[in-house]
Amino acid sequence: MEQIPFIPELTENQIFIRDTIREFAEKTIRPVVMKYDETQEFPMEIMKKLGELGFLGILVPEEFGGAGLGYVEYALIIEEISKVDPSIGLSVAAHNGLCTNHINLFGNPEQKKKYLPDLASGKKIGAWGLTEAVSGSDAAGLKSNAIKDGNYWILNGSKQFTTHGTVGETYVVMAITNKEAGKKGISAFILEKGMEGLIIGKKENKLGMRASDTTQLAFENCKVPVENLLGEEGMGFINSMMVLEGGRISIAANSMGLAQGALEAAVKYSKERKQFGKLLADFQATQFKLAEMQTNIEAARMLTYRAAWMKDNGIPNTKEAAEAKLFASEIAEKAASEAVQILGGYGFIKDYPVEKFYRDAKLLTIGEGTSEIQRIVIARDLLKD
Ligand SMILES: Cc1cc2nc3c(=O)[nH]c(=O)nc-3n(C[C@H](O)[C@H](O)[C@H](O)COP(=O)(O)OP(=O)(O)OC[C@H]3O[C@@H](n4cnc5c(N)ncnc54)[C@H](O)[C@@H]3O)c2cc1C
Repeated sequence: MEQIPFIPELTENQIFIRDTIREFAEKTIRPVVMKYDETQEFPMEIMKKLGELGFLGILVPEEFGGAGLGYVEYALIIEEISKVDPSIGLSVAAHNGLCTNHINLFGNPEQKKKYLPDLASGKKIGAWGLTEAVSGSDAAGLKSNAIKDGNYWILNGSKQFTTHGTVGETYVVMAITNKEAGKKGISAFILEKGMEGLIIGKKENKLGMRASDTTQLAFENCKVPVENLLGEEGMGFINSMMVLEGGRISIAANSMGLAQGALEAAVKYSKERKQFGKLLADFQATQFKLAEMQTNIEAARMLTYRAAWMKDNGIPNTKEAAEAKLFASEIAEKAASEAVQILGGYGFIKDYPVEKFYRDAKLLTIGEGTSEIQRIVIARDLLKD
């Protein structure tokens, strides 16, 4: 099908969802942003409320307790949260898009019935472990392994940088089940907190995205019932790549929200601060910075909603999701930096929101595939025969 994907007008329901989450973020999240950043405490209370509103089961069908929405709505929700707090935006994205969506896409009916309702309601937080100390960008180079022993798979190994490793109760993790088969020898498993041999390791102390929990995991003869194999044996890595394709759209939305939040803070400040008897907003140097931020955000928004719309309409979007993630994360970093510059010294202190945007932004070009990996994905598509 030859077409230029377009972005249709938002429906009444999409506008309602956007306005609901916008109001929630302003009233409930904004007052506590710095509390969670400084303590690095996980905002469980906020997550529970988001669960009650249906924002933790965005892509989950209604029959499993979810909201049954698509990627356009998903992106709208992540964008609005991230305008106020990108680290809560990241957690909502990881919960919905990784653990929950892996079970949603590849679980059998029993697994969906058992795990999705608690994840969708926020009763349980989801974690997803692909990355290991030895395998980041080269995700298929992981070393964790699983050996079948009667009614159990016995897992050994470890995971690095697992979002919600500490606070999660349902985990999806990838491990080798057939060493000879390479990428087709990796399988996915559903683990539960408290399973014998699942060890919750060190919680990382991070530069940014500090409200979002990031933790090491270890498996020491971890006993996983055979019925917890998720998807077909040997398809764990391939399925993970499909999960990440959707995840990239959510990180693009995370980035766009952050950039918009930084722009709004910079606009507000430039209309208040005077130097040389003039508002900063009256200097063309400030105006040009703001204009560039605005233009970049609009472009990122188009790329992101195009990828989301394509996904909702069943159109292959590997390249488009990578383009959205690459562009949105890089302009977010730039926007946060320019916002700090516009605020001058005040941008460098914690009384103003741009200092946190600047720290949070760095993760966006790294998580769920670095900018370099997105470029590889885009170039591979461009150069294929
Ligand atoms: C806060 C946070 C949350 C995370 N959450 C999760 C999670 O929930 N689940 C999970 O599984 N993972 C998670 N990750 C891991 C994340 O996906 C990885 O950090 C990321 O994929 C990069 O891997 P790495 O850190 O090992 O870097 P490396 O792969 O070691 O890369 C280092 C540098 O080398 C570059 N590089 C590597 N290979 C190439 C190449 N072929 N060509 C050009 N450049 C290359 C990279 O782009 C990067 O700049 C999280 C990470 C962080 C920091």
